[in-house]
Order: sequence, then C-alpha cells, then structure tokens
Amino acid sequence: MQSHLPIDVTLAATAHILVAWWKPVLLLIPFLPWAWLISKNFDKHCARFHLPREQWGTVHLVVGVVAILAAISMPMKSEAAFWAGFGVMIIILVADVAVFMNIVNKDERVPENFRLKVSTLFYQAKAKDPKAKVVAGKSEIAVRGPDKSLVAVPDAGTPEYDLRVSAENVVLRAQAARASQIDFDPAGNTYRVTFLVDGVRVPAVLHDPVPPKEGVPPPPPPGVMAGPEAAKVIDFWRAAAKLDVAERRKKQSADVIIERGTQRSKIRISAIGAQAGLRATMLFDPEGAVRRKFDGLGLLEPQAKELRALVEDGKGLVLLAAPPDQGRTTTLYTVIKMHDAYTSNVQTVEIDVQDSIEGVRQNIFDPFADGAEFSTTVRSMLRRDPNVLGVAEIPDTNTAKEICRADAERTRVYACMKADSALQAIAQWYKLAGDPEAAVKNLRGAVAQRLIRKLCTNCRVAYQPSPDMLKKFGLPPDKIKQLFKKGGQVLVKNKPETCPACGGIGFVGLEGCFEVYPIGDAERALIKAGNLQGLRQEFRKKQLPDIQQAALRKALDGTTSIEELVRVTTEQEQAKPAPAPAKPASAEQKA
Ligand SMILES: [Zn+2]
Repeated sequence: MQSHLPIDVTLAATAHILVAWWKPVLLLIPFLPWAWLISKNFDKHCARFHLPREQWGTVHLVVGVVAILAAISMPMKSEAAFWAGFGVMIIILVADVAVFMNIVNKDERVPENFRLKVSTLFYQAKAKDPKAKVVAGKSEIAVRGPDKSLVAVPDAGTPEYDLRVSAENVVLRAQAARASQIDFDPAGNTYRVTFLVDGVRVPAVLHDPVPPKEGVPPPPPPGVMAGPEAAKVIDFWRAAAKLDVAERRKKQSADVIIERGTQRSKIRISAIGAQAGLRATMLFDPEGAVRRKFDGLGLLEPQAKELRALVEDGKGLVLLAAPPDQGRTTTLYTVIKMHDAYTSNVQTVEIDVQDSIEGVRQNIFDPFADGAEFSTTVRSMLRRDPNVLGVAEIPDTNTAKEICRADAERTRVYACMKADSALQAIAQWYKLAGDPEAAVKNLRGAVAQRLIRKLCTNCRVAYQPSPDMLKKFGLPPDKIKQLFKKGGQVLVKNKPETCPACGGIGFVGLEGCFEVYPIGDAERALIKAGNLQGLRQEFRKKQLPDIQQAALRKALDGTTSIEELVRVTTEQEQAKPAPAPAKPASAEQKA
C-alpha cells in the first residue's frame, strides 16, 4: 500500500518539470552555436569561395525549423520524451553541419588549405591572412634532418639563436608568399635571394616594411641579403640537411623536414660552389613538384593525342625542350611513367633525381667524379639495350652522338634540352649531332613547353575585350564575348577582401603550354636539308598549335589571361637561344 506513494510523487514531479523554465533554455543551448556557425562562418565561407550562398542559407533555415519542430513536437508527457526530442534536435543540427562541410570540402573551388576542419570550426570566422603567419624574432618551426632527428634550438639571446630565427624567417616568408623554391645567388658582397612563385621569380621579401629611423641603417631591399648573413643561413640549412659544410665546390643535396603546428613539409637543400660563394636552392616538396598525371600537364586535346601516339610508338628519339624551371622534368617523368616499367626495361640518366619512379632504374651522373663523362654514361646505358631511356640533358656533342647510335627499333630515347621552342630544339639537336643524316635518322618527335599561370577561379574578373585587342591576336571580334583577367579580391558582405584562394595574386597554379610535333618522313627530309622554315610551314599545314596558339586557347577558355599570355610569349622571344652548356648546369634543372 505504501509502495504507490513514490510513483505518485514521481508523476507529479514530471508534470511539474514539463513546464519548467529551463527546458526551452536547454533547447537553445545547442541551437545558438549552430546558428552562430551558420551565419558567421559558413555564410562567409560561401561568399569567399563563390559557393551557392542563398541555397545553402535556405537549406540551413529549413533544417533549423525542422530541428525545433522535432524537439517540441515530442509527446512531452514523460521526461524521456523530452530528452528524446532534445537528442533528435542535436542529431539534426550536427548532421546539417556535417553534410555542409562534407559537400563544400569536396568543392574544387575551395583550395585545400581552406577546407573546413572540425577542430578549427569556431576560429575560422576571420579570413586567414597568410602574411600574419610570420612572427619575427622567435623560433617557431621544428627542423628535422634526413635521418628525422631534430635540430636543437639554441638558447635564446645567443648569436646561434638569432641565426636560427633568420634561417626560419626565410622559409616562413617563402611559404607565406606561396613560393615553391628559394634561390640564393652570390653577388659581390651581398646575396640575391629570390622566391619562385607559380613559376615566376620574384625578389624575396624578408622583412616587414619599417619606417626609416635616424641612426638605424635601413634593412636591405627585397631580394637582397647581406653576404655574411646569407652565407650563415645557407650553412645552417646545409648543416640541418647533414651535408658536408666544409665542401664548397661540389654539388650536394639532401632533404630536411620542417614542422609547424600540424603542417609538415619537405625541403630539398642543394648547394654548389660558384665564383663568389655558394649558390643554394631550397626546393619545397621536391617529389610533389614533378608528379603530374598526363591529363594535368596542360596539353590541348589534339596534342595529347599526338603525344600519346608518340609514347605508344616507343621507338627512336623524342626531344623534350623547355627553358629552365618550365616543367621539363615533370613532363619527362610523366611520359616515362606511361611506359610499363615491369614488363620492359626503363632507365634514366639524371644529375638530379627529383623523384623516384617505381620500377625505373634511375642512374645518377656525378659531374664531379673523376673522369666522369656524360656521354660515357649514356653509352653504357644504351649498350644494355633498354626499351626506354630518359636522358635529362644533352650537355655535349659526344652525348648527342651516342644517342644517334641507339638502336631505334629497340629503344625509345627521350632527350631533354634547354630550348624555347620545338624548332629551336631541333636546330640545336641538328648542330649537336654534327651529321644531318645521323640527326634525323632516329628522330620521331619534338615537344616543347612553357608554363603559364592559371587564373584564380575564385576572383578572376570577366570583361568584354575591345575589338582592337581581339584583332591584335587574330581573333574574330564578333565571336569572342568575354575574357577573364586577374582579380585578387572578393566581396564578402559588400566589403572587398583579399582573395583567400590566391592571397591576392590573382593566379593559382601552373599549366604547360605545349608544342607537340611528330616527325615523319616529310619532316625528316626538311630537317636534313636544314630547311626549318619549311618545317614550320609543314607543322602549320597539319594544324599543330605552337606554344603561343596553345596559350591563346587557354586565354579564350578562361584558364589564363591575355596579360599572362603576353608575359609568357614575349619572355620566350626575348630569351636567348640556349647554347649547350659545357658543364651540366644541374642547379638550373628544375621541375
Ligand atoms: Zn583569388
């Protein structure tokens, strides 16, 4: 009889709780951060990356209403029902956030480093300013040598600590500028320091601008570092990479790993003796820089078809030409990878192996070894009758002669050259081979390329080109309605903001502009006769685009701008015809 009492009390209490004031308050607790996230963070994210902002707004609104209805429509007779409703509401809100993040993170308009992460969701309301990452005067990165061991940070206040900060500063500034490479070149009492940003060399900005002060010498201008400081910074990185710091002539290179927060990157440190000191290069992510799928090289469709056919043919010689830093190594590696290294014998002769290719034997040529001759190395490779041989450069006529002797029926040779165009490469090859007959006998193709910067799709600006400008490029004014130029800013809630995707530069990433010329009997006859003008006409007749035409196509489809096309093609004309170097200038051979 007494046993009824507790139950009655509980029921009464439940009825009382049903109207308790804290229940709606409790419902608000998960609702408020959700609403904040949607309105302050997700909405801006959509505005910054041109995602369908209004549609997402509607989706979130509907989900919010559904979540509240789910919570209050539960039969609230029991406490269990209230908690069930509360739980369902949280699940709906969390699912909304998860689905949004999942979908926008897969959107290619959002660059990798701006993907939303659960851990930083509530901190991303402000746009990241990459330059704000550089904090002067303090060691902030962990440095690991090739054996993964940490390089100890010296005590603060010592000259060693200041050097460490100075060495880190160069790397941090380069990363903030989205540089892929840092170069130090001795120039008298100073060093010229440059960053390579999307294939464009710019003076390295190593200090924040400071107002001039009396009695205080101004810091060196961008791109210049005091000689002794630069030499110490170079030696710091050489020591970190466990290179022989006493060696000041031979080329050495090794990798270091740097870690900052959750970011980890590999840097290849290379140094070689030059007249006034050491010439050093710090290359970020060396392997990633030369890894590209065939479809990502930037070939136009007919060119891709021609190059694929050339690779499949698998016989004779194909010249791969580009000026330094213009993607030649990437193209060499990509075509080498198209050959099956497991069923056939695929080899390379290289001075710098930038990435290891699975199944491929990559022979390193050391120009400083006693009695080393590039041509001898190439000859011994060819004697083994490889199916494919990639030759990273042709430094002299002897090497060219060895390549001429290769068995064209059994071996495909890809030979890299420094040249601005396929025709220039053919002319150089003709000269190097020495004998017209030998030069053309095995020649099957010539490929040349230059890299062009791709417009940032997040901030590029569409405009209507003037008829005059179109005429200049031989384009029909009535057909071209719109072109794009670089932007650099986006509007977020009607306020211009530095575009987060490109950091305000207006370009993100590079793509090749190619010439792909297969060489058949007709072309061989023209080359043999030394008739390059006739050869040019022959390629035109076959409607094979040259580099400028390839760049123009990329401007027409909005991949790049007319200004960038002009930059790339005029630099090309101004560039001197690259003579064959006496000694392999390996430091210049990059992605
Ligand atoms: Zn942009």
